[in-house]
Amino acid sequence: MELWYTEKQTPHLGITCQVKETLCTRMTAFQELAVLDTLQFGKMLVLDGMVQTTVEDEFIYHEMITHVPLLTHPNPKQVLVIGGGDGGTIKQIVKHPGVSRAVLVEIDEEVVKACKEHLPEISGGALEDSRVEVIITDGLKYVESCKEQFDIILVDSTEPVGPAVGLFTQEFYQNIFDALTPQGIMVAQTESPFYNRDLIRSVTKRVEKVFPVTRLYLASVPTYPSGLWSFTLGSKVHDPLKVEIFEDLDTRYYSPEVHRSSFVLPGFTKELLEGK
Ligand code: SAM
Repeated sequence: MELWYTEKQTPHLGITCQVKETLCTRMTAFQELAVLDTLQFGKMLVLDGMVQTTVEDEFIYHEMITHVPLLTHPNPKQVLVIGGGDGGTIKQIVKHPGVSRAVLVEIDEEVVKACKEHLPEISGGALEDSRVEVIITDGLKYVESCKEQFDIILVDSTEPVGPAVGLFTQEFYQNIFDALTPQGIMVAQTESPFYNRDLIRSVTKRVEKVFPVTRLYLASVPTYPSGLWSFTLGSKVHDPLKVEIFEDLDTRYYSPEVHRSSFVLPGFTKELLEGK
């Protein structure tokens, strides 16, 4: 018998994958968690019915949320990730030899456990790197009461529902600004420019209120709604459009050319920044 899984991406559209095996399903204290082995994208993490990452296309999102800010900053040493319990972002961060400490703050311990057990490819063992610390707590509270400062903060969150709602607020971006060093940079994943237009408009306005430099950039992620994904960058000093990039990292999507081109926005996305 063939098994198919559908994520309802909008009330009127879904993405459907043929499932080889269901590796785990559980209700955690925060969300419904599943790891599915699919024929097209390999193993896949699903939270509350929404695809979070897959073995086949994870590199695109994780490289783009990480390398754009880390290569915009001249010398990032301390990096904080909010969310990202699958470890894919941390795997990209530890590729930077200058990083001396990377802290992952994930609210749901079950995500970290399930990914270590069923999706070890996503983190590639990076969560065990001696520079990495995993803290299980609410990222909102962590940033609010943070005593140290980071050069980079990455908000690798779920969609703005449940525990992630507060991760898209003005207050949170202000707390992030305060937790960043004087040349600090933050990037938040900000959903699809096709389906989440109001969210992108509001996040842009909120980040602009706090950061001198605000930029939106895009990447194509096949398993995310509409296939086109956005990231919002807030920077205290450095502009990702004005930096020369010479690093030669081991990547499959990110490159200095892709870095530059990801900020070139098609008209229907550019208009979101103009308040249209
Ligand atoms: N790449 C993904 C995407 O855009 O679909 C995000 C993946 S990562 C699994 C998202 C993580 O954020 C989840 O594991 C979730 O538990 C975590 N999360 C949600 N709200 C959080 C909060 N307030 N503090 C820390 N982590 C949070």
